[in-house]
This record gives sequence, C-alpha cells and structure tokens, in this order.
Amino acid sequence: MDFEKEYDIVIAGGGPAGLRTAIKAAEKKLKVLLLEKDQEIGSPVRCGEGLGMGWFNRLGIKPDPQFAVQSIYGAVLYSPKGKKLVVRFDKASGYIIERRIFEKFLAREAASKGATLIAKATVIDVLKEGEQVTGVKFVHAGEEFSVKAKVVVAADGVESTVARKAGLNTTNALYNVDSGYQYEMAGVKFEHPDLIALYFSNKYANRGYLWIFPKGEINGKNYGNVGVGILGSDTKTAKKCLDEWLETQPELKKGSKIIVNAGCIPVGGLLDKMTLNGLIAVGDAAHQVNPIHGGGMGIAMEAADLAVEVIAEAIEKNDLSDEFLSQYTKKWFELRGNKLQSLVKKRKMLEAISDEDFETIVNSLSGEDVLKLAGGDMLESAKVVTKKLMKNPKLATILLKYLK
Ligand SMILES: Cc1cc2nc3c(=O)[nH]c(=O)nc-3n(C[C@H](O)[C@H](O)[C@H](O)COP(=O)(O)OP(=O)(O)OC[C@H]3O[C@@H](n4cnc5c(N)ncnc54)[C@H](O)[C@@H]3O)c2cc1C
Repeated sequence: MDFEKEYDIVIAGGGPAGLRTAIKAAEKKLKVLLLEKDQEIGSPVRCGEGLGMGWFNRLGIKPDPQFAVQSIYGAVLYSPKGKKLVVRFDKASGYIIERRIFEKFLAREAASKGATLIAKATVIDVLKEGEQVTGVKFVHAGEEFSVKAKVVVAADGVESTVARKAGLNTTNALYNVDSGYQYEMAGVKFEHPDLIALYFSNKYANRGYLWIFPKGEINGKNYGNVGVGILGSDTKTAKKCLDEWLETQPELKKGSKIIVNAGCIPVGGLLDKMTLNGLIAVGDAAHQVNPIHGGGMGIAMEAADLAVEVIAEAIEKNDLSDEFLSQYTKKWFELRGNKLQSLVKKRKMLEAISDEDFETIVNSLSGEDVLKLAGGDMLESAKVVTKKLMKNPKLATILLKYLK
C-alpha cells in the first residue's frame, strides 16, 4: 500500500466534509490521508443534489457546468390540495449538481494539492494512547492497516461510527432523524424545469416534503431527482410514501427510475461536544444539517474549513488536547450552530401545522409575499403579515395556535 505510517490529519470519509477538509488541510501544507469506504469517491449518491448560490459564494467554489448541471431560479411550493405558489428570482439562486462528479472534482483538487486519498478503505477502529486518539485502523481490499495521525477527522456521515468508537457520544434521537427516498427519473415533463418543486402534505410526507429537483432536458424530456423526506419513526416507509404520491402524479409516474437512493438525514440533535483529545467530528457525523430543509453539503464544507483552521493551529502549538480542539465547537456554534438551533424550534412549529391550516396559509399568500418574508427584512415581513391578517382573521387564529 502506497501510504506513510504517520500523518498530520487522517480523515475518515470522503463526502463533502472529508473532501473539503482534505483540500483545506493540504493548502496549509499539512500531511493528509483520506480514507473512503466506498470503491468510488462520489458514489453512491444519497442526496437531492441541491446547493444554494450562497454556498458557492461563501465557499469560493466555481459552479463548473460539468457538475453544476441545472441553474435554479427559485421554487414552486404546492399545498396539500395542489394550490401553487411560485417564488422566482431574477438571478439563479442555486444549482442542482451531479454530486458524483462534484465529489470527483473535490477529490482531484485535494490530490493535486498534496493530499493522499484511498478509496475502498474502511476505518474500523481508532488507535488510542490513554485518552489521546493517535490514529486509525482500516481495511483495504481485505487487508488490515494502522496509520498514525496527530488529529483524526470523523467525516463518516450520518451513520458515523468512528467518533463513537473514540468515545464521543454521537447518538441521536429517532425523532431528530428524517428518512429520505429518491428516484432520479428520466423521460418525464416537469412543469417548471428551472425551479425546484416542493410538495407539502402530511399524508405523503409526514413532517417533511416531497421534491422535484430538475437536472436537465434531453429530446424534449426532463430528468431529475424526485424524492421525499419524512419523520424517521413514521409508521410508513419513505419509499411507500413516495410511491403512493407518484401514483397521484399522472405525468411523473410514466417516467423511468434510473437511480434509486435512500438515506437518513439528521435534522436536529446538534452535538454540544464535537471533539476529543486528537479527534474532531465534521458534517453529518456531527449532525450539522439544516433542520428545516435537510440540506447539509454546504454546512459540512463550511464546518470543514473551520476544523482545519483549529487543527492547523493545534499542530503548530503542539497542543492536540480536547480543550484546544474544542474551540472548533465554540466557533462553529457562533458561526452556524446557533442559527441552526433556532431553526430546530421553527421546524417543531412547522411540523405541527395541519394540512387544513397549511392550505389556509398558502391561500393567503402570493409568491411575492413569500419573497418578502424570505428576504429577512423585519419591516417588510411585518407589513406582509399585518396586511394578510387584516384580510383573513382565520389566519390570526392559526398563527396564534402554532406560536403558542
Ligand atoms: C435523501 C437525501 C437527500 C438530501 N438532499 C440534499 C440536498 O439536496 N442538498 C444538500 O445540501 N444536502 C442534502 N442531503 C444531505 C447531504 O447529503 C449531507 O448532509 C451531506 O452529504 C453531508 O456530508 P458528509 O461529508 O458529512 O457526509 P456524507 O456525504 O455521508 O459522507 C460520508 C462519507 O464517509 C464514508 N464512510 C462512512 N463510514 C466510513 C468508514 N468507517 N471509513 C471510511 N469511510 C466511511 C461514506 O461512504 C461517505 O462517502 C440529503 C440527504 C439525503 C439522505
């Protein structure tokens, strides 16, 4: 095997969190080894593949057309009874990416900057000296290896075992986990091929929503991701919800299902402890996901940047203690975690809304209202809400019910 015995950073997992960690650490001239259990970095994909423009800008990633395959100009929201609200921006607000290709880009970038990456390499345990994590054990092509690291980064996703093996409590309540199921469908006609479509219905998507994320067009027909996210502990499976809903969509159900993917999404239960002596957890492994819509790629990469800043300083100061590394947790909560925590509260309020009340709310709003509400301008939002409440007193009763 072509790897060394000791690295500054060994990363378990080659998703967005691990790959971005590898790039940023290599840029700082740290010696990096990334181990990915699948035989191909970027595959299988378990994702709707939507990434907002804000993330491209914040992370300094150029939306290369090889992976940023469909510009998205907004969203169309469907109420349970099919009333739609179109929210369209003048400029692209994000992209649907081919994640398989995106991750290859990241992997190639990391390697070009000096990181070593190995696919089909499963981390099976951590090495420890007393309380200090000092490396990992992994299996590659049936053979077991050990490698030392100053810091181990657990970027092994929602089912993370690496941080847990080291002693970090990463368990999450089932209530805080959504279950997702998705088809990439082809040979269909999407009503709005440059908007994402979100369908709200407690019947087909308890606590979550169904989505269409368009990816492109060929011979006058569209293709894209059609999926659902629901409460993990729901009595129905996400697959059943999606299949039942597809039966209600005459155009969609004619399409071909060319990829099937399923996965869990942590939509709450942020870890208040994400480090140990010599270990940091990043991305889904640390439950760093937007609890309202379940998007986690951007958040994972942003957290990776922060983790590398802290690790680089820890290595420079030769202080690999939990106390030093825990600055990452503190800084991450200041940067992102506190906002996500407040979204968990909003998620709880939103998930309590009945289909009937949701219908009344949607019937009271226009796409323009939604744009103003989403714009974040308090005064604009207050004006919209006041105007609507005056027109429709029933709305006031509904709002009061859920705000309680
Ligand atoms: C159905 C669904 C739809 C989603 N849609 C979106 C969306 O549209 N937009 C968005 O931003 N987010 C979406 N998400 C969430 C997003 O996929 C995750 O938040 C994101 O992938 C987190 O990145 P990560 O690197 O932390 O974890 P992952 O992408 O899960 O990567 C972890 C990697 O670690 C590897 N690994 C695991 N164990 C080991 C081990 N022991 N040794 C070595 N390697 C290991 C895995 O094979 C994997 O490659 C969706 C999730 C699901 C399930």
